[in-house]
Amino acid sequence: MPELPEAETVARALDRALKGKTIARVEVFLPKLRTSLAPLMKAGLEGRTFVGCRRRARYAVADLDDGRALVLHFGMTGVARVDAADRPRRKHEHVVITLTNGQAFRFEDPRRFGLVEVQPPGSDGWPAGLADLGVEPLSRAFDADLLFRASRDRKKSVKELLMDNAVVTGIGNIYAAETLFASGIRPQRRACRLTRAECATLVHHAKRILRLAIRWGGTTVSDFHHVDGSEGKFAQKLKIYGQKACPVCGTPTARVVLGGRTSWFCPKCQH
Ligand SMILES: [Zn+2]
Repeated sequence: MPELPEAETVARALDRALKGKTIARVEVFLPKLRTSLAPLMKAGLEGRTFVGCRRRARYAVADLDDGRALVLHFGMTGVARVDAADRPRRKHEHVVITLTNGQAFRFEDPRRFGLVEVQPPGSDGWPAGLADLGVEPLSRAFDADLLFRASRDRKKSVKELLMDNAVVTGIGNIYAAETLFASGIRPQRRACRLTRAECATLVHHAKRILRLAIRWGGTTVSDFHHVDGSEGKFAQKLKIYGQKACPVCGTPTARVVLGGRTSWFCPKCQH
C-alpha cells in the first residue's frame, strides 16, 4: 500500500505534469472505485485548469482554478499517470481525464480500493473531505507533547498509536516499523508505558525516516509504481521491515501482528 512518501512523490510529479493544464474531457469506465465515480462525470470539469498538486496524509490533491480539487487516494494498487492522450487505454485504467495539450491523466487500479473524487474546499484550506485527518507527521504540530498526550490511557500498542490517523496521519506500516527500530522500542509495547523522552525519540526518527524516504522516492511495494512507471528506491534503505536479521546485532528478526498488520522487530535491540 502506498504510504506518505509515495503519495508525496506522486503529488510532486503530478504538480509538474498537471500545473497549468486544462481539462478537455472526463471519462470513467466503471461505476465506482472505493466511492462512486458518477459525481466526477457530472462535476463539469471541462475547461477547468489545474493550478497545482499537493499532498495531505496519503492523498494527492490536484487543485483546480475554481477552488475545487481532484482528490486521489491510491488504495492498494492505484497508479496515476500523465502521458499521451492517443495511447490505447489499459484494462484497469478506470478514469481518463484528457487535457487540451494532447496528454491525459489516467488512474489505473486493478483492485479498485483507490479513490478519485472532486471535492469542494473545506474551512482549513484543504478539500472538505479531508477535514477529520490528524496532524501531518512532518509538521511542527507533530511533537513529543502531542504524542505523549495521545499515548496516555491507551492500552493499545505503540505501533498502533503511530498508525492511528486521528493522532498523526500517514505514518504507515513500513515507516512505523522503521521508526520503532531506530527508537529501540518494541512495536507491541503498550502506548501508555511510553516516557516523554521516548515520545521525543519516536517523533525525531519518524520525521527523519519519512524525509529520507521522500528523498528516495518512497518504497516500491508489490504493484505500486510512480507517475512515470519508476520504482521507489527506499526499499534498499529498510533496516528492519521485511529483514531476516537485525543489521545492528545480527539477531534474527521477530514478527508480531498488531491491528492486522505484520511488524518486524529485533528482540535484542528493541525493548
Ligand atoms: Zn538487534
